[in-house]
Amino acid sequence: MLKDRDPYVQKALDMGVSLFAGEAEGRLGNVLLDASLNELHPVYNFMDDLPNIEGVASPLLPAERVHLTAGATTSFDAGRGCPFACSFCTIINVQGRKSRRRSPDDIEAIIRANLAQGLHSFFITDDNFARNKDWEAILDRVIMLREVEKLKISFIIQVDTLCHKLPNFIEKCKRAGVKRVFIGLENINPDNLLGAKKRQNKITDYRQMLLAWKSVGVVTYCGYILGFPGDTPESIISDIEVIKRELPVDLLEFFYLTPLPGSEDHQKLHEAGIEMDEDLNKYDLNHDVTGHSKMSRDEWRQTYHKAWETYYTDEHIETVIRRCIATGTSPGKTTFFIVWFRGCIGIESIHPLEGGFLRIKSRRNRREGLPVENPLVFYPRYVIETLSKQLKWISLYIRMRIIYKRVKRDPARFDYMDTALAPVTDHEEERDLFKTEAAQNYLDKVHRNERVSRGETV
Ligand code: SF4
Repeated sequence: MLKDRDPYVQKALDMGVSLFAGEAEGRLGNVLLDASLNELHPVYNFMDDLPNIEGVASPLLPAERVHLTAGATTSFDAGRGCPFACSFCTIINVQGRKSRRRSPDDIEAIIRANLAQGLHSFFITDDNFARNKDWEAILDRVIMLREVEKLKISFIIQVDTLCHKLPNFIEKCKRAGVKRVFIGLENINPDNLLGAKKRQNKITDYRQMLLAWKSVGVVTYCGYILGFPGDTPESIISDIEVIKRELPVDLLEFFYLTPLPGSEDHQKLHEAGIEMDEDLNKYDLNHDVTGHSKMSRDEWRQTYHKAWETYYTDEHIETVIRRCIATGTSPGKTTFFIVWFRGCIGIESIHPLEGGFLRIKSRRNRREGLPVENPLVFYPRYVIETLSKQLKWISLYIRMRIIYKRVKRDPARFDYMDTALAPVTDHEEERDLFKTEAAQNYLDKVHRNERVSRGETV
C-alpha cells in the first residue's frame, strides 16, 4: 500500500530474511525448492496474481493442536475476497475484492478429513461468508451431510450486516449447523460508518438482521470499533447504552480503530505524516497506536476499558441470558462466552479473541530488547500470578453461574420480552438509536432517496 518500502521490511531484508507476499497455493512448492537449494530470492511477490483456490490442497490442522483451544474448534476458509471497501480493512488488499471459493466437494473433503481425526466444530474463516458466491451450494452440501448422513458438525461464521437480505441465507445457516456468527456492526453512528466507507452498514437494518439470527437461535458476536473521528468518551458510552437497550446483541466486542499496515487508513495516515506507534506488536486492536482528534490517548484508553465495563454489567448479562432463553439461543453457551470475554479483559488484559483460561509463559521467550529474567524471580511470581488469576476466573464463573441459574429458575423465562426483542414495526425511527443528530441526518437522506426512487420531487 505504501510508495516506499517500510523500514522494518527493509531491515528484515538487510538481515537476509526472504519475504513472501501473497497466497501460497501453487507457489510455496517453488519457494521450498529454492530454500532446499539455498537459492531463496529476497522477495516473492504474488500480490497482483491471486490464485484459484478450487480443487487445490487444503490446510488441515492436526487434532492435537486443535485440542489446545477451548471447544476444539478447527478452521478453514471456504472462500476469499470481499466486495466491500472498508477503509480499516486489510483483507481486501491481501485477498482482493472478488470472490474466489472452494467448491462444495472441497468443503466436504475438509469436513470429512477433520471428522476422521475426531474434530466436529469448525470456524469458517472467510471474512464475509455471505459474500462467498457459492454460499448456497456450500450450505446445501453441509445440510446434506447433517440431515441425510447425520454427521454431527457445527460452525462459526463471519458475515456482514446485510446477510439477512439474502433469501434463505440465515435459515440455511441454521440447518447447516451454524451456532455462532460474527457480525461487523462496527458502530451505530452513520457518520462514522460513512467515514470508514462502511456504506453497507445501515443502522436502519440492524434490528431486523439481529432479530433474524435470534429467530433461529444463533449466538451473535458483534464487533464494535471505538475511536472513529466522531466518537467522544460521552458518545461512546451513550451509544453502548442504546445498544444494550435496543439491539438484541449477545456478545459485543470492542476494538480500537487501528490503522493496520495494509489498510487504506494506514496508507492515508502514513502519507499525511501522522504519528503512529512503531511497535507492530501493539497493532492487535487492543492498544491505541495513534492519536484521536477529540480524545487524548489517556481518555481513549479509559473509554475503551469503560466500554467493556459498561456492556458487561451483571444486570445486562442477566438481560442477555433472558433474551437467549426467550429466543431459543443456548443460555449455557452464551454464559460461557460471557465469562470468557469478561475474564480476558478484566483478568488477563488481553482481547478475548486472543485469550484463554490459562496463560502459559516461557521464561526464555522475551520480546526483543527485554532481558531474560532470573528463574528465582520469574517462577515464584508466575506461580502467584497464575493462582491469583485462577481464583479470579473461578469467582467470575460462580457469579455468572448464579445469574444463569436465577434466570433458569424463573417460571416466566420463556415469556420474556423487552425493547430489543420486540418485533420491527413502522415506528422504529422513534427509538433512541435514531435520536442523535447523525442518525437524524441519515434518516433524512434515506427518506429523500426513497422519494427520488418513487419519482417524487425533493
Ligand atoms: S465487510 Fe469485512 S471483510 Fe469486507 S471490506 Fe469490510 S471489514 Fe473487510
